[in-house]
Amino acid sequence: MAAEEVKTASVATPTQQAKPQEEKQTNCPACNKPLKKVRIYYRNGKHYCTKKCWRKATAPKEGAKQ
Ligand SMILES: [Zn+2]
Repeated sequence: MAAEEVKTASVATPTQQAKPQEEKQTNCPACNKPLKKVRIYYRNGKHYCTKKCWRKATAPKEGAKQ
């Protein structure tokens, strides 16, 4: 009989940190491109790279979540 030593290893998930989304915004929420210093379109508390992206992001999507 092979005694298999199976310990109940506590598998921890190290890389599972819940990051709050209150960080400094660096990417456009619409196209996810990094925002540059210039040409930042600020609307509704968020920064977009262009007005186009803002429209894209604010376009009617499924779910009316703010
Ligand atoms: Zn964009």
